[in-house]
Amino acid sequence: MEGQVAFSSLNLHPTLVESVGTLGFETPTPIQSQAIPKALEGRDLLACAATGSGKTAAFLLPILHRLLDRPRGTTRALVLAPTRELALQICDDFAGLARGTGLSAATIHGGVAMGPQEKAFRTGVDLLVATPGRLLDHFSRDYARLAGLEYLVLDEADRMLDMGFLPDIRRVLRHVPTPKQTMFFSATMPPPIEKLTREILRNPAKITLQRKAAPAQGVAQWVYPVPSGLRGALLVELLKNGGLDDALVFTRTKHRANRLCKLLGRNGISAERIHGNRSQAQRTKALADFKSGKVRVLVATDIAARGIDVNELGHVVNFDIPGAPEDYIHRVGRTARADATGDAITLVSPEDESDLSRIERALGSKLPRVRLEGFAYDAVPGERLEVPRGERIAAIRAKKAADRGRAAAKAAKKASAEESSGSKRPRRRRFGGRRRS
Ligand code: AMP
Repeated sequence: MEGQVAFSSLNLHPTLVESVGTLGFETPTPIQSQAIPKALEGRDLLACAATGSGKTAAFLLPILHRLLDRPRGTTRALVLAPTRELALQICDDFAGLARGTGLSAATIHGGVAMGPQEKAFRTGVDLLVATPGRLLDHFSRDYARLAGLEYLVLDEADRMLDMGFLPDIRRVLRHVPTPKQTMFFSATMPPPIEKLTREILRNPAKITLQRKAAPAQGVAQWVYPVPSGLRGALLVELLKNGGLDDALVFTRTKHRANRLCKLLGRNGISAERIHGNRSQAQRTKALADFKSGKVRVLVATDIAARGIDVNELGHVVNFDIPGAPEDYIHRVGRTARADATGDAITLVSPEDESDLSRIERALGSKLPRVRLEGFAYDAVPGERLEVPRGERIAAIRAKKAADRGRAAAKAAKKASAEESSGSKRPRRRRFGGRRRS
């Protein structure tokens, strides 16, 4: 990369330089070459960097360097991340970068037992990577004081805001001692995030790498216009004959992720799904199976997909167009990570056009429209993945109206039957339960 320094010239501990080499990182990415020297000076950091930029090593390497200066046994570093997947990913990156240092890390996130996490607090692992909710659960116990905390990282802060974690973050900050150094990473800087940075960062070194909304360079982006009912068929065709060997596919809802996964399975395409209703074990296995190539497709919802880092992921498919341009950037950021190349495909039906225009405005350019040769665009739509909400409500109303109509007709029929039988035979009259003689 032009103008890049070598890892060996960043004054990092030799063991770290070695592990970076073992991981195959030849030169620091721009965020790394800018952030690491500032962080090693002890400065707070405010980095506007998108996912895929190499930001994890940008904060882990200087922290690891510092952690090597003293004996162990106290947790000195805490990384806050929005999702379990990202927390696990950061911990994985830690394992690679900290190889040979003897330093330890643990993840603290929901969906798994508290016991092993409590042990991590009690033994004082060097670095904790945590999602805010579960961390606060631990904070209500006395073993989780983190009194020796020195380094704090907030990763993907804008996503934590989107997920409603800002109050939790403030609670975490009130609980821990003021860190010696805080590093703040966010792809975008919406006003509440800027406010938070002003509150917690002291004279931070500011690093902005790219325009606010731009997917990584090297991503080719395409739009496939398709009638809504043929989305599933088009995806199947792209995977069978359209050159898509594997893909991370995004759907709008968990329900659609499930249905799409089944549809792919029925068409002989191995697929797994990852979303909020799946257990942590299922999510981890799905990701592992996709990474190892055991399944060709991983279907995900936005939230669960944060932190999914798959080396050499070539294709991202927006099966459903994301509602917000930032989500588009985040999704597309899953491919072409760290200077690799990849492509992002978005299926667009006529009703998605306004969302697409918003994305194109944010990107500052129109996305090329393409057609898949040989695909039957005029076929009769197959099974729908989901009945739209409006239609579901209308169907429920129609059913209720029909039920009411039937009940009214039945009542009228009964009344008229009673009336006509009453004209032939006098009805028995009851008085006080006794028949009058
Ligand atoms: P991140 O933005 O931290 O999620 O990193 C994105 C991907 O880039 C991960 O797969 C990293 O392992 C990889 N990576 C990080 N730094 C480098 C580097 N200097 N050279 C090559 N790959 C890197």
